[in-house]
Amino acid sequence: MTHPFLDLAPLTAARFASIEDRVARLLSTEQDVVITQGEALLPLEGAIRSTTGPGTTALNVITGPYGQTFGDWLRDCGATVIDLAVPFHTAVTAEQIRDAFAAHPEIDFVSLVHAEAATGNTNPVAEIGEVVRRHGALFYLDAVASVGAEPVLPDAWGVDLCVIGAQKAMGGPAGVSAVSVSERAWARMAATPGAPRRSYLSLLDWKERWIDGGRTTLLHAPAQLEMLALEACVERIEAVGLVAVMDRHRRAALATRAGARALGGGLEPYVYEDAEAAPVATTLRAPSGVVASELVARALESDPAVPLVAGSGALAREMIRVNHYGVEATQGAVRASLAALGAALREQGLGVDVEGALRAVDSAWR
Ligand SMILES: *Cc1c(COP(=O)(O)O)cnc(C)c1O
Repeated sequence: MTHPFLDLAPLTAARFASIEDRVARLLSTEQDVVITQGEALLPLEGAIRSTTGPGTTALNVITGPYGQTFGDWLRDCGATVIDLAVPFHTAVTAEQIRDAFAAHPEIDFVSLVHAEAATGNTNPVAEIGEVVRRHGALFYLDAVASVGAEPVLPDAWGVDLCVIGAQKAMGGPAGVSAVSVSERAWARMAATPGAPRRSYLSLLDWKERWIDGGRTTLLHAPAQLEMLALEACVERIEAVGLVAVMDRHRRAALATRAGARALGGGLEPYVYEDAEAAPVATTLRAPSGVVASELVARALESDPAVPLVAGSGALAREMIRVNHYGVEATQGAVRASLAALGAALREQGLGVDVEGALRAVDSAWR
């Protein structure tokens, strides 16, 4: 008895390479793209362990929880880490990066998260890239939450290691990810004594045994289901057009912010400036005296289908996330999210204007 997920024909090396090429086109990059068979944390950790060590001075920008994790890996590799933490309601500026280089000219590695789904901000990577390049540091970027939602251009921005995952705005699987690697980054890896080899975290293994061999022999059996899902999701983006997919995300973010402001009741965008708000997901600040996680629980009771979650960890009390990405990047999902939040706020006795919020969503969507 056959089954749609089972009994699949083996995925060939040629098919694997063609999926890598399609991902490279999505990023408009000439760099090598390595598809990594695990959630994005795999290449995020692998790239840091492959390029940093006791000789590294890393500028680690923290605009959300992932930056914290990168700092831990960097320290674990023996790097000297300069943390640049910015409040979660804002973005880091190129000026702050410039100042960090002025204070620590020895910085030779910069880690940055492009957009943070967890905190809802997005950082000006193009401007930051110019500063990083001028100082010759290696530039590592987590673009998991930005790819598909806003432009991600490693070549134009001088990104040396650009990590993506398909599970957010690309609307794809979570169990597979990719990293684009510049020539400079390969050279840094070759010169990093602690770079993992013969390891699942190794990127050099893929360079030496896959890329340099002309991509004819895979290192191990490919994760078939995830690769097929990644191929399908890239195909769907190509069919609709990347620009159209990004446009849906941008509209969803603007509409959510406009709707929240019009709703009232004390709810407001968590990230102050529209330009610093990530298109992938919108974070909202709960009204004072209202616990965000309880508000979200009540909103989900009124409509279990809306893409709402409370902030994680310490943010659970004050932050509400509208995860309007992938299939949820629609006017309908934004409307339903605000209606559910409005109903929950009203239950708390707060004065809200749901009709006004929906009108604001519709007008911002246009
Ligand atoms: C979502 C996301 C990841 C992947 O992590 P998950 O917890 O598996 O979703 C990595 N980096 C960033 C910035 C993300 O938003």
